[in-house]
Amino acid sequence: MFLRKVEISGFKSFANRTVFDFSDESGEGRRLGITAIVGPNGSGKSNVADAIRWAIGEQSSKNLRGKKSEDVIFGGTAKRGKVGSASVTLHFENRDHRIPIEFSEVSIQRKLHRSGESEFLINGSKVRLLDIVDLLAKSGIGKDSYCVVTQGMSDATLNATPVERRSIFEDAAGVKQYQIQKDRAIRKLSSTKENLTRVDSLLSEIEPHLRILRRQAERAAKGKEVTEALLLKQIELFGFLWHSFQSERNGLSEERETLARQIGMSERETDSLREEITKLSGSLEEGGRAEELMREANVLREELNAAERDAAIMSGRIESERDRQKDREEIRTIPVDLGYIRKTLDLVRKNQTTLFDRLGLVEKLEDIQDIREFARAIGQELVDLDTKMEAGKVTEKVIVSLPENEKRESDDRLAKFVAEKETLTMRMETLRKEIDAKEAAMREEREKHRESRERYFRLEKDVREKERKLSETKDALNEVKVRLARVEVREEDLINEVRDELSTDVRELTWDGQPRDRDALNRDIIRLKGEAERIGAIDPLVAEEYEETNKRFDFLTTESADLRKAMGSLETVIVEMDERIEKEFSRAFDEIAKKFEHYFSLIFNGGKAELIRTRVKRRARAEDQEDAEGESVETDLTDDLGIEITACPPGKKITSLSVLSGGERSLTSLALLFAIISHNPPPFAVLDEVEAALDEANSKRFGKVLFELCERTQFIVITHNRETMRQAGLLYGVTMGDDGSSQVLSLRLEDAEKFRLKGKPAA
Ligand code: ATP
Repeated sequence: MFLRKVEISGFKSFANRTVFDFSDESGEGRRLGITAIVGPNGSGKSNVADAIRWAIGEQSSKNLRGKKSEDVIFGGTAKRGKVGSASVTLHFENRDHRIPIEFSEVSIQRKLHRSGESEFLINGSKVRLLDIVDLLAKSGIGKDSYCVVTQGMSDATLNATPVERRSIFEDAAGVKQYQIQKDRAIRKLSSTKENLTRVDSLLSEIEPHLRILRRQAERAAKGKEVTEALLLKQIELFGFLWHSFQSERNGLSEERETLARQIGMSERETDSLREEITKLSGSLEEGGRAEELMREANVLREELNAAERDAAIMSGRIESERDRQKDREEIRTIPVDLGYIRKTLDLVRKNQTTLFDRLGLVEKLEDIQDIREFARAIGQELVDLDTKMEAGKVTEKVIVSLPENEKRESDDRLAKFVAEKETLTMRMETLRKEIDAKEAAMREEREKHRESRERYFRLEKDVREKERKLSETKDALNEVKVRLARVEVREEDLINEVRDELSTDVRELTWDGQPRDRDALNRDIIRLKGEAERIGAIDPLVAEEYEETNKRFDFLTTESADLRKAMGSLETVIVEMDERIEKEFSRAFDEIAKKFEHYFSLIFNGGKAELIRTRVKRRARAEDQEDAEGESVETDLTDDLGIEITACPPGKKITSLSVLSGGERSLTSLALLFAIISHNPPPFAVLDEVEAALDEANSKRFGKVLFELCERTQFIVITHNRETMRQAGLLYGVTMGDDGSSQVLSLRLEDAEKFRLKGKPAA
């Protein structure tokens, strides 16, 4: 990587676009080892160094030899007007990618407009100044590295205090990046500490408030819990009660309807029974029909009695008449003759035959009894015949009849009597039938009456029973109505209670149909109400405030822990950086010290110089404290590391730098500059009249060293020194034009070829 071109436009005395090309003529993209920029005083040579310094990020106007930033813009001359902007572009060949981006050609451009607006571009793309500084720092180019060195700067190392010198050596040692990281870590640590203090003080402020809020929030949460539990219990109880009342009311309403219907029906039934009773009582009073029938039957009975009496008389008459007509039997005694005996024996025989026939037909025991009787009778007849035969006579009835005329008269009377008796008999028959009919009717009437009476009394009883039941039903109805009214009152009370307690309509409450223990629920409600009262009213925003404060507290606690952790990491980084700086610095210091000795004796052609690390006491400045003028305040003495230089030119015995001549000081400075450059060679170095104070012999030696180093560093040397010019492959001549702007012409030396990077000097 090397600086191929510098393009300057509108920067300081370079009003026109001017290009300095540092590549060789080969066209193979190689650089020149040494390029010299020459020209009369005030022609603008140092402005080229300023341009390069500005382009790589210099921000101090003082370092750019101006007062304010816009002093870098061509300000115009008597003959030429000022320009609106300054622009410097550095073109790098970057095939080795020492500038760590993918491009093999890198252009870094810085622009400043009079408006104050700045532009920074890498390969035409806008970036921040920081991006440029960082990118170049990674390739060893920076305002603090030895890329642009003025005489004052190289002297500054000698003039500096040991501690300041150490800082310069740190730059040279390449530990600056670690130093920057360390400083950043320290700054960050300090700001982290501040933050931590702030966070911790906030935490300690919040903590007691949070404790109070937590207690209140816990109470509020408990209160909420109790209120919710109370609400649930109330909903449970009220819902259950409401639905119980509803079902009780529905039941009672139904009962009322049923009872009212029953009463209506009973009343109608009672009324119809009463009607019937009234009717029956009328018919009971009409009960004389049976008496009448009885009277009629009695009349008929009397007539029958008379007829029977008459019939009996008539029968008597008939009987006496018949008796009169009957043949009179006269008992006569007759002798027992053969005829009588025969007749009797024939009868006995006939009877015996009958007896034998009967004997053949016997079936049962009774039959034998009868036969026995019959046999005894036959025997008796034979005994009687025997007795009669002994007596020789028997008595016999003889019939004596009436005379004929008497018989006729008697027959006539008898016929009359019989006819009369028949008439009477018929009449009697009729009467008897009539009496029977009357009696039957009477019985029927009596039966009917009895039945009516019985029905009457039954109905009376039924009515009384019905009335009793009706009265009971009415009582029951009244009871139901009272209960219904009571339920309605309870419903009304519940509606009001639910509206007051829950601000809702009780009808909206549901019930799962499960029975509830009312007393237990009531006990729970009373207990929860008591609890809620004990907890008391709490601002509802407390929970919210607690949440917020707790969140903030948690956040701050986490932040505090994070900050402590970050502080730990930063402290580790600082320790690591310290170790690294110490290690790298020691290594670099030893090397630079050796090189310093080498270049010193080379430039002085002998003599001895040394770099020594020392411990010095110094007052550090406290960055975080300021005095009345806003300057940082010095703190206590601290033990610090410094670097002392001893330089003894050949043949002299000098210990203090202050006794060196101007030229000797300059040579010592250059020896130090070369030592530093050779230790950590920058890609390019612009040396602005650093060798001005050297005599010819020393200038030659300077040139020789320069040539030695140009292998690793591209030198752009602003010089008036012929010896130095002689080492350059290319000369740029800068002159001040008539218009007050710098003009440039390039001049390749005859033997420039010999001085190209890969070549060796001819002599
Ligand atoms: P020397 O050899 O004496 O060191 P030099 O060649 O290095 O001189 P510079 O210091 O580079 O000269 O240039 C100084 C010149 O640049 C002065 O003439 C000054 O007026 C001019 N100059 C500086 N800044 C501006 C600016 N903003 N506008 C115009 N001209 C400027």
